[in-house]
Amino acid sequence: MSDCCSTNPKTGTAPLVMVCPVNGARSKQVDILTVKSLVRRLPLGMLNTQYYFCDASDCDVVYFALEVDGPRFLREDMVVRVGAKETADPIPVCYCFGFTRKDIEDEIVETGRSAVADRIKTEVNAGNCACEVRNPSGKCCLGDVARASTELTGSDVLLVRYVSRGVGSAQPHRNLLASSACVVPCHDPFGHGNRLRCQLA
Ligand SMILES: [Zn+2]
Repeated sequence: MSDCCSTNPKTGTAPLVMVCPVNGARSKQVDILTVKSLVRRLPLGMLNTQYYFCDASDCDVVYFALEVDGPRFLREDMVVRVGAKETADPIPVCYCFGFTRKDIEDEIVETGRSAVADRIKTEVNAGNCACEVRNPSGKCCLGDVARASTELTGSDVLLVRYVSRGVGSAQPHRNLLASSACVVPCHDPFGHGNRLRCQLA
């Protein structure tokens, strides 16, 4: 790649964090290469400056420039759905390998945990990721994937679905300890006759 596409004279002197001019959310620096990669149509004469990524879910701005009169790019300008700003499926969490929040959720319902982060780690270690040109934040998705997994694993709704699937099977109800008081009376797998027979078998 030629230098004209990647150099940014202001990087290093610009503040690391700026507030989004629309909703005031603290927004971190993003490399101009990421902006150029993920904005569908770049404006002619696009300002070569430091850009920032607003990840607030209630704001349509995705990227804004250091200069107040510089360009702003909105959700609709992007070639990908920005997971941090989406509330309906598909909500991307990993842009290199295409994992969505639903993939993690399905795995937790199926097995009680998600191995998506482990699979991504293997790919990252093999040098197969390209976060700087695929992820709107320009950063590795593993932090977001881990956060989504933790949130979903702690979700009572998913736990109930997982426990329900386990009733009558040999699958132990190990996740019940983590569930809230309302989960047990509704599904009470310990009161289920199959449970005892399974354990004795
Ligand atoms: Zn914003």
